Amino acid sequence: MQLPVYLDNNATTRCDPRVVEAMLPFFTEHYGNAASRTHRYGWAAEEAVDLAREQVAQLTGAEKQEIVFTSGATEAINLALKGVAEAYATKGRHIITVETEHKAVLDACKHLEKQGTSVTLLKVGNNGLIRPADLEAAITPQTILVCVMYANNETGVLQPIREISTICRKHGVLLMTDATQAVGKIPVDVQADGIDLMAFSAHKMHGPKGVGALYVRRKQPRVRVAAQIDGGGHERGMRSGTLNVPGIVGLGKACELAGAEMAATELRLAVLRNRLEKGLLALENITVNGSREFRLPHVTNIAFGYTEGNALLTALNRDIAVSSGSACTSALPEPSHVLTAMGLEEELAHSSLRFSVSRFTTDEEIDYAIQAVATVVETQRKLRIDI
Ligand SMILES: *Cc1c(COP(=O)(O)O)cnc(C)c1O
Repeated sequence: MQLPVYLDNNATTRCDPRVVEAMLPFFTEHYGNAASRTHRYGWAAEEAVDLAREQVAQLTGAEKQEIVFTSGATEAINLALKGVAEAYATKGRHIITVETEHKAVLDACKHLEKQGTSVTLLKVGNNGLIRPADLEAAITPQTILVCVMYANNETGVLQPIREISTICRKHGVLLMTDATQAVGKIPVDVQADGIDLMAFSAHKMHGPKGVGALYVRRKQPRVRVAAQIDGGGHERGMRSGTLNVPGIVGLGKACELAGAEMAATELRLAVLRNRLEKGLLALENITVNGSREFRLPHVTNIAFGYTEGNALLTALNRDIAVSSGSACTSALPEPSHVLTAMGLEEELAHSSLRFSVSRFTTDEEIDYAIQAVATVVETQRKLRIDI
């Protein structure tokens, strides 16, 4: 067992060795530019990108031509929000999103607000879910886009995407979703789910860092996205720049593996997560944050009453790698915006930790983690009482 035990798979995952193996020839052997149309090096690269596009499309229910490769989910989210705001500016200037979205969504929306787009932030209940009726009430003739994440990165809570897309369709408003935590873990299908734009990332599903994709619907309706990076007109003009061929090959392979192994993995992840949760809930004053019914199989977010989050994290991180929520904001001392939006008191939000397992996690690691948390929590509570 390698220490600390890695239980921070929502921050990033280990690249699968089979993914690395698929990528390697594209650094040293097939190093051509996928846009070089006249020679063999270019053709080999283009062929590999084409296969990856097929693999990504296959996993998500998309068509090949609807996949735009990017440097990750953050870029895909920025392209979707800013690109749609720009392309549909004459139709309307109102976007609806949710308080518990990832910072990439919230910050891109703030940027758009400065440029005159109005943004409505929907609230969530204690369970982390939006109420579809709130969404419907927020839609105006000015609304061009609804942006609701598929699954939350801090709590794993799943939003009712199908109900949401039905409302969007009814009102002729586009639906964009940040599905970074869902794609590759649970079945996601842009057709069945009624999604118009969808961002996701390779490194959250055992692929490499620095590569992701934006799904952009081509039919019913044909979605327009204004490019945010101009250059050689790659990716049907939506995202210029020489393609990251090894990265794209890795994303494709990660999608293929995720699809082939999903049913079995989903179950195994849930068993591991439930084992961890059960072990931790045996301690006193422990609560699970957010819906336990509508949730990803591999995540749990737990509030440890009568402990102090930072001290907890520091003591724990020698034995297990976990985090207090989103990695992007964990340098800041503020409590999680996701947990406070769900109505948690600041103090309890501060003493909450996120645990996320992966297909590489073992039973032994889970048992070790339960023991480590129990020891640290009990020690800290005892210290508090002594003071
Ligand atoms: C990790 C994550 C992102 C950012 O993805 P990058 O590829 O690292 O830019 C966006 N949204 C969610 C929900 C995430 O978990």
